[in-house]
Amino acid sequence: MNKERKLIIAGNWKMNKTASEALALVKALKLELTNIKEVDVVVCPPFTALAEVAKAVLESNIRLGAQNMSEQGNGAFTGEIAAGMLKEFSVRYVILGHSERRQYQKESNELISKKAHAAHAASLHPIVCVGETLAEREGGQMEKVLETQVRGSLAGLTAEQMDDTVIAYEPVWAIGTGRTATTAQAQETHAFIRKLLVSMFNQAVSRRVRIQYGGSVKPSNARELMGQPDVDGALVGGASLDARSFSEIIKNSI
Ligand code: PEP
Repeated sequence: MNKERKLIIAGNWKMNKTASEALALVKALKLELTNIKEVDVVVCPPFTALAEVAKAVLESNIRLGAQNMSEQGNGAFTGEIAAGMLKEFSVRYVILGHSERRQYQKESNELISKKAHAAHAASLHPIVCVGETLAEREGGQMEKVLETQVRGSLAGLTAEQMDDTVIAYEPVWAIGTGRTATTAQAQETHAFIRKLLVSMFNQAVSRRVRIQYGGSVKPSNARELMGQPDVDGALVGGASLDARSFSEIIKNSI
C-alpha cells in the first residue's frame, strides 16, 4: 500500500495477559512478523509484563509501548508509574488519554497534556487518544468535542514534539463493540483532525503527524481502513490479543 506516512499499528492489550501469557503472545507475534518492515509494529502489554516482553522483542521489529504513565517524575504517588521507570524497559511509546481512562479514571485533557509533556521530557512517544461518544456524534457535537480534546491534550507541545507524537482517533462507540466506523466516517474525521493540526501548528506538522484509527479493527476491515489517505495506522484492542489476528491486521494493511 502506498502511503504518505509510514503506518503504525499498535496492540493495546489492556488489563489482559499475565507476564507468562504475554511472553507467549509476543513470541508467537515475532514468528508471524519477522519480515515486516513496512509498518511500525508496537505492543502495549500491562506494566507487569513489560520486563518479559522487553527481553523478547530485543533486536526484533516489534517496539514496546505502555498503556499509561504518571505526569509526575517520581515521589509519593502510590500506585503510579513514571516515564523513567518505563525507559528502563526500553519502552518507546505510551498510550495517553485512552477513552477508558477518560471515562473510569476521569482523566482530563489538562492531565493528558501534562502526561504528554512528561513523556516527551523522557523521549517517549505519546499516542494521544481522542474520540467522541455516540450521543455526541448523534447530537452534532463531534467536531466540537474532538477539537476540545485535541487542543487540550496537545496543549503546549512544540512542532518538534508533534513529530514524535501519534494521535489515535477512537470513536468511543466503536471500542470493543464490534461496531466500526465506516471508512468514510474514519477518513472524514481524520481529515478534520489533520486540518485542526494546521491551525494549531502548521501545514508541515499536519502532514507529518500519524493519526491512527481505533475501534473494532480486525483482519477483515484493516485493508479498507488503512487505505484511507488520512488513516496512518491502527490502535487495536481485542484483536491484538491473538497473534494470528493481530498479524493478519498488519499483513492486510501492507
Ligand atoms: C482500544 O481499546 O484501543 C480499541 C480500539 O479496542 P477494540 O479494538 O477492542 O475496539
